[in-house]
Parts: sequence; structure tokens; C-alpha cells
Amino acid sequence: MTDTSLKVVLSFDEASNTFTPSGHNLSADKAEEKARTLQGQGLKVKVFDQPSRHKGRSFKTCASCKNAAENLSQQQSDGVEEHWEELPAVAEGGQEG
Ligand SMILES: [Zn+2]
Repeated sequence: MTDTSLKVVLSFDEASNTFTPSGHNLSADKAEEKARTLQGQGLKVKVFDQPSRHKGRSFKTCASCKNAAENLSQQQSDGVEEHWEELPAVAEGGQEG
């Protein structure tokens, strides 16, 4: 087990056309789970590799997350076409909600 494959999750807020941090310092599994939950709420989600562990305690107040979100929002408004990665919908035994 290592800390080297940490992920940051950003969700896209269509109301304000910006990305919002939704999680950081997550394992690949956790990030995928988070992304799937958010996608289930109809949000577009981006998952990125983190080069290093974020120091912010909470992604809500994390400067690194904020930077990532701002960069991405800027790319978005520059009209950079990107393919949204869609996670495969996995049918699982348990169902929520
Ligand atoms: Zn962060």
C-alpha cells in the first residue's frame, strides 16, 4: 500500500460553468465511488491524479483543489473540447435511495 496514487475529484457546476472540488487525497477506488455518486446526481465529474498529497484538511478549503478547479474552469471557458470520461455503470447488488 502506498500513497502515490491519490486522486482528486472535481464536479462541474452547470449553473456557474465552473468546476468545484468534490474530494481529494482519495484512493482510486474511493475516487471512482465518489465520481459515480456525483454522476448519479446528474453532475459531470473529472478525476485527476494528484502528484502529491494535498495539505488542506478539507477539499472545500484546499488551495490545491481550488487551483485545479480554476484551471479547469478556464480551459472550459476557452472552449477546449474534451471528452468526458464516463464511468461504466456497474450494476451492484445493493441499491441506494
Ligand atoms: Zn485538495
